[in-house]
Amino acid sequence: MQVYSHSRLSSFENCPRQFRYRYVERLPVDTESIEAFVGKRVHEVIERLNRFVERGLVPSLGRVIERFRALWSEQFQLERVRIVRSEVSSEEYRGMGERCLTNHYRRHYPFDGDESLGIEQRVVFPLDADGRYRVQGVVDRVVRARDGAIEIHDYKTGRFVPTQQRLDRDRQLALYQIGVQASHQASSVRLVWHYLLRDHVRVSTRTAAQLDTLRADTIELIDRIESESEFAPRPSALCSWCEFRDICPGAAGAPAARERAPVAARATARPAAIGPVARAAPASRAVALQLRLL
Ligand code: SF4
Repeated sequence: MQVYSHSRLSSFENCPRQFRYRYVERLPVDTESIEAFVGKRVHEVIERLNRFVERGLVPSLGRVIERFRALWSEQFQLERVRIVRSEVSSEEYRGMGERCLTNHYRRHYPFDGDESLGIEQRVVFPLDADGRYRVQGVVDRVVRARDGAIEIHDYKTGRFVPTQQRLDRDRQLALYQIGVQASHQASSVRLVWHYLLRDHVRVSTRTAAQLDTLRADTIELIDRIESESEFAPRPSALCSWCEFRDICPGAAGAPAARERAPVAARATARPAAIGPVARAAPASRAVALQLRLL
């Protein structure tokens, strides 16, 4: 039985042909966009930072950036990372990744405002009573806030920050809420997006009735996907970032790329709180762990 993810559902909604290439034909892809590359490296470093904090340690901002640079130079290969916006260099993209991490660090330092219940937590859950429609996802961080609420956190590295109205209709974190509620008891749940490059945090909530509607809408979408046979191309500005544009007949009719990718934004001036800090661990052990892990 197929288990659906938010990205699988979105792929179908954005372009059925892309969905077919990716999930039906499973065409091999050996490149990725620079935006995806930056996003993955930033997520890896934040995951590591969150795991440190879980153990009572807070590495310095310098160590965090050093780790990002190390991952970048280990994994960046010019021949397999696609840069659509050729006027932006890979060095500038690396700088954006560093800005994401710096903004995040300075906003949340010393990382003692809440408690992690899960980091990169996988959730798999049914949408219906029979378990015929199943969804899975990986939550960047599940949090117990100081007021007892559960929060579902998501890190974004793009420049675009959606409106509150759009976030109030967002499917991804609301789906995760259905999964997280199955394993964590909470009187209230908040959905929290961290727009790292712009240094914005956005919050939304869902009622039980809204989650029921989401379940029904998602089941309907899965039914549509499973009855689809044509998988017609749907050309758009996003074709410039599509990994199948070289083989897709629809790519020729796509409009020119718009500025969808992250671009440099001015870093928010915030007092730096840089330097090794250990919490709930002896100082010598904290320093040793910092040196080893970041
Ligand atoms: S190139 Fe455009 S139309 Fe073709 S699969 Fe990709 S997104 Fe769809």
